Amino acid sequence: MSLILAIDQGTTSTRAIAFEVAPQAAPSASGERHQDLRPIAVSQIELAQHFPNSGWVEHDAAEIWSATLQTCREVVRKAGGVARFAAIGITNQRETAVLWDASTGEPLHRAIVWQDRRTADVTARLTAEGHEPMVQAATGLILDPYFSATKFAWLLDAVPGSRERAAKGEVRLGTIDAWLIWKLTGGQVHATDATNASRTALMDLKTVEWRGDLCALFNVPREALPEIVPCAGVIGECDPALFGRALPIAGSAGDQQAALVGHGALKAGDAKITYGTGAFLVANVGAEPVASTRRLLGTLGYQADGQTAYALEGSIFSAGSAIQWLRDGVGLISESRQSEAMAQGLPDNGGVYMVPGFTGLGAPWWEPEARGTVVGLTRDSGPAHFVRAALEALAYQTRDLLDALAQDGAPPLKTLKVDGGVTANSFAMQFVADICEVEVERPAFQEMTALGAARLAALGVGLLPDLEARPAEAPACWKPRMKTEERERLLSGWRRAVKAAIIAAPDRA
Ligand code: ADP
Repeated sequence: MSLILAIDQGTTSTRAIAFEVAPQAAPSASGERHQDLRPIAVSQIELAQHFPNSGWVEHDAAEIWSATLQTCREVVRKAGGVARFAAIGITNQRETAVLWDASTGEPLHRAIVWQDRRTADVTARLTAEGHEPMVQAATGLILDPYFSATKFAWLLDAVPGSRERAAKGEVRLGTIDAWLIWKLTGGQVHATDATNASRTALMDLKTVEWRGDLCALFNVPREALPEIVPCAGVIGECDPALFGRALPIAGSAGDQQAALVGHGALKAGDAKITYGTGAFLVANVGAEPVASTRRLLGTLGYQADGQTAYALEGSIFSAGSAIQWLRDGVGLISESRQSEAMAQGLPDNGGVYMVPGFTGLGAPWWEPEARGTVVGLTRDSGPAHFVRAALEALAYQTRDLLDALAQDGAPPLKTLKVDGGVTANSFAMQFVADICEVEVERPAFQEMTALGAARLAALGVGLLPDLEARPAEAPACWKPRMKTEERERLLSGWRRAVKAAIIAAPDRA
């Protein structure tokens, strides 16, 4: 019984991965052989996306459940049977809201996905009424349709009779973790882990409890909400009929937080950034929440073993998507990985900067109307300059986020742990190290989200002593080596380019 079944319920697919608790291949310097998790089987099913209106995004929660069951069963079979498993860990797309019937266990509406903007009018009204400072102080979040609270209220308003039924405990609300816990336990447990709860805008970030005043403000009945539980520890047992034996659900965390744990970014000053289509930074700030003045999000890192780690979060809207655009939109490259050799082929950026504000600029600029901009073109500029500028922009945008963190008084950054498709690009990772003046570390195993969920579950049933990462293979590392003068010159070029992007925004012209 040394396997963990990790469920990774993401926006575009549902996956199950079996992890084995295994000793490191080589003993450490002290002669010990540490234990960590190693993947041995995986199964994945794509998830249908529904776009019923402009700005609306929905998932079918019943489809999510059946895909979860199917991928888990396949992985259990591939890994040699349920008898080998000790526990289940869950990680999920955060903020996505589900409403279901407590007696039938059937969803009462399609789930409203985190990207969905249908409640923008509600958060705009609450902002105009002056509620944002209170909401931010209590929850760490800003007023935005992104978070679950307004989605929950919308669902209750959309399904006739559900508000009355909520008061009687006949319907339930929850994020995807809560939905899966309910289904896995055959309706026995209605619980959400503290990280998912921290994304609803209903939870007090300090006390880690639902707040009556926020439930009232957002019009969400407390009775329909799940119980908030820590990320590690037994939450409930799954229905034995599902896999042939009851398994404890012993770990749960939202995807970005699970990745933080997967990376072993456990101390204040540890941070992880996932460079995929967009990029998501989560920085561990320690045992007390840090209030952001730069509109970073205050959130829970994880709660396990009696400890609570807080985090600040910021995202870059366009990261790998700039490379995708050069490949699929402009046709400058035919494969993403060509970008590395092209960028490296130039001695420098030739004064060309690209601000990939395709969908506006996020933290710390918050210019939703800004658009993509290229500055500094000369007759010498060629395709490689565009490619290099797109890769360099990753580093400049990361620097902006790290500067915002520092201005918020977050503990100084120790290492930046990275994962995601773009981290295959060594030029980009070296440039991040140089521009951000921080050591960049990329683990050999990249599935940080599933790994984090598995590690929480392994801790939850005592298969691992703590959450420390003790990977079998050493990470790749990039150390800063750029001269200060050059960095300053590049950063001032970047700042001029951002200004140009903001000035050129349609609402400024
Ligand atoms: P997501 O999970 O957001 O779909 P991934 O982590 O799979 O993203 O990363 C995909 C992104 O990484 C794409 O935008 C792609 O252009 C970019 N990418 C992949 N390989 C490279 C590379 N070698 N250099 C630069 N970008 C890359």
